This record gives sequence, C-alpha cells and structure tokens, in this order.
Amino acid sequence: MAGASFILAINLFIAALFALAFFLVAATNRTDGTPRWFALAYCCGLLYIGAELILPVQVNAQLTYTAGFAFFLGAMSCITIGIAARYRQPIPWLAVGVIAVLSIVANWLAYDFGRDSLVRMLAYQAPYALLQGIAALHVWRSRRRQPMDMALLVLFCLSVAQFITKPLVAQWTGGVGDFAQSYIATTYALYSQSLGAILQVALGLLTLLMLVRDMLVEATARSETDPLSSLLNRRGFEDRAATALNAATLSGMPLTLIASDLDSFKAINDNFGHDTGDQVIIAFASLLASHPPPNAIVSRMGGEEFAVLLPGTSLAAGRLYAETLRSSFASQPIGALPGHVRVTASFGVAEFNGTESLSDLRRRADAALYVSKRNGRDRVSVAASPDHDHMPQHPLSGTTALHRA
Ligand code: GH3
Ligand code: MG
Ligand code: MG
Repeated sequence: MAGASFILAINLFIAALFALAFFLVAATNRTDGTPRWFALAYCCGLLYIGAELILPVQVNAQLTYTAGFAFFLGAMSCITIGIAARYRQPIPWLAVGVIAVLSIVANWLAYDFGRDSLVRMLAYQAPYALLQGIAALHVWRSRRRQPMDMALLVLFCLSVAQFITKPLVAQWTGGVGDFAQSYIATTYALYSQSLGAILQVALGLLTLLMLVRDMLVEATARSETDPLSSLLNRRGFEDRAATALNAATLSGMPLTLIASDLDSFKAINDNFGHDTGDQVIIAFASLLASHPPPNAIVSRMGGEEFAVLLPGTSLAAGRLYAETLRSSFASQPIGALPGHVRVTASFGVAEFNGTESLSDLRRRADAALYVSKRNGRDRVSVAASPDHDHMPQHPLSGTTALHRA
C-alpha cells in the first residue's frame, strides 16, 4: 500500500469518527444547526476519501476525479455554512453556490489540461482556500475574541495558507502524478494527505469543544433562569449574590437587598384565573427588569416573590428605588386584568452590614417585607441594622414616611 493510501485510510477512519460525533451532538441539540453542518462536512469528507481510494483503479477517471473534487468542496462548504451559523452571521449561500458551480465546471473541463501546470493546480486549490477564508471572515466579523475563537481563526488562516501553497509544494516534490490515477503514489499526495489529517483532526476537535462549551453555557443559563418571567431564578440569584457580597466585603462599598411580594395575589388567581395571575407576575418582572440600576441582580425567588440586589447602593438609595418600583406598579394597568383593577406589591429593604451571610441579609429584608404586609401592604419598609436591633424599623420606614419626605 502506497504511503498516501495508508494515510488516506486513516483519514477515512478519522472522518467517520467525527461525522458520528457531530451527529451525536446534533441529536442532543436540535436548535443549533452547526453540528449538523459539520456532520455533513465529515460525510462529504468520507465520500471524497472514497473517491480518492477508487481513483487508481479507474480506466477513465474524469468523473471520479471531479466527484472527488466536488465532495471535498462540499465538505469545505458545509464547514463555512456551519461556522456562519455558529457565529450568527448571514449564511453565504450565494458565495458558496457560485464557487461550487464555477469550480466544478472548471475542474471538469481542465481534466485533460497539463496536470503540473501551476494555474491548473491553483484552480483546484483556490476554491477550498476561498471557502476557508470566508469561514475565517465569519469568525473575525463576529467580534468574539475568546481563546477558542482565536484558535479557530488561526486554524482557518493556516488552512488557507496550506491550500494556496499546495501548488508550489507539488512542484517542489515532483508533481501531482502524470494521471489522476497516479496521484496517490506521489510524494505530494503523502504531504497533502498528512496535512489534511492534521487539519481535519484540529478543526473537528476544536469545533466539538466549542459546541460542547456552547451547550454547557446554555444549559447553565437555562438552569439559572425562571422560564415564566425570564428573570434569574433563586439558584442564579444566589450564585451571583454570593459574588456580590464577597466584592462588597472586600471593597467596603455598600450593598442593598430589596425583597418584594405581590399583595393579595391569591385573590387575583381566585378571581381571574391562574393564567391571568401569570400575566401579573410577568408584568411585575418586566417592571423590575426595565432600567435596573447598574449591576443590579434581579430575580424571581419563587411564586410571586422577587429580590433585587443592588451593589454599590446605600440603604437610603435602595429604599428610594423600591419606592419608585412600588408607585410605578401600583399605578400601572395590567393588560390581562379589567382596566380599573390595580395590583400592588410590598417591599422590604436591608443593607449589607459587611460581615453577615446572604441568608441573614435575606432574613432581615424579609422581616422588613413582613412589616410592610402587616402595616397594610403597598409600602416599603427598611430593616434595622443587625447590630442595632433585630426588629425592623417601623413605621417611619414605610411609604408614608417617604411621601412625607
Ligand atoms: P399577601 O399579600 O400576604 O402576600 O397575600 P397573598 O395572597 O399574595 O399570599 P401569598 O404570598 O402567600 O400567595 C402566594 C400565592 O401565589 C399562592 C400561589 O397559589 C400563587 N402562586 C405561586 N406561584 C404562582 C405562579 O407561578 N403563577 C400563579 N398564577 N400563581 C402562583
Ligand atoms: Mg403575596
Ligand atoms: Mg408570597
């Protein structure tokens, strides 16, 4: 078996493995088209290798030779499309289509043309280089600059360089063979197929890693997001709040927590139905999510209970913000409810004392919220400092006090 045939057989095995791996990823992630395009790319790679393997035993090899070229072009096209999809760029259908049609026709017609001519070899390699260049352009245009994106960019640039320089390598190494059938026995084929193996392994591994990382990021985001309100859920809140508390402890900057709970919500469910209740939750969540202070951590903790953590905000500023939320919500008509019905919410505000735990801070904000409920709802109360008194301030901390101010 000629050296290049052996590498071709290895390439066949690698392409089959990657095609299978991408199909498996595609099966677990039906929303992202990228793994499907990559699976298709490696299938095209398999067909290309098949064509190269049967080429030496063909009498008239023009069809197999052109088919081999077209299969490899198909692989490059699928990679370009998959990359455009991954980086949310417009799919370059027109460019891919034009390159495919022109280059397949050109290579069919050039079959009998001097095999070692530089122009002819460039006509063979340039379409591949062009497609890899377009893929690189998509990565570049996406403005994503994480290490994996940069590695992919470098890989595509290397790939472009190797396709462009292949005609020169062919000339240095004694040509691509007198006939299509004799290509596989040349030194050039050994070089070309070895480099092909390295590039396809690097590209496959890198893309698989990237797709798996995308899936992990998405799964984590989903596990930390409340599907009804699209706010963070309790898990997402606690994760970010712990970081914010650490930062406040280190910097000595203030940090304030607002706890809130919709008033008489059971009555809304009872009178207007659960779906309408959901719409009220969505309306309140939208209010919290619209123009939150910088770095605010906004969450639906469960049911109709919400929390807003405000890094860099003092108790006074936090109370003022809670009051803005309270008055906005109390005056806001809600589409799902009859026009005259208004829903209110109660609030409890507590400032981090610099040493307490998140659960202690939450307990104090909840206690202040309870004071708001006890004093008639639709109001804001602030918690006493834990060092000062374990009971929340009352009643000067309520809405009435703020209105008076
Ligand atoms: P209060 O003013 O004292 O808070 O009275 P309330 O009626 O709001 O009492 P509570 O906070 O205990 O009521 C919570 C209700 O919220 C009970 C539960 O049926 C309802 N609820 C919890 N989660 C959801 C939800 O996702 N959708 C809807 N529609 N209702 C929910
Ligand atoms: Mg309630
Ligand atoms: Mg409640």
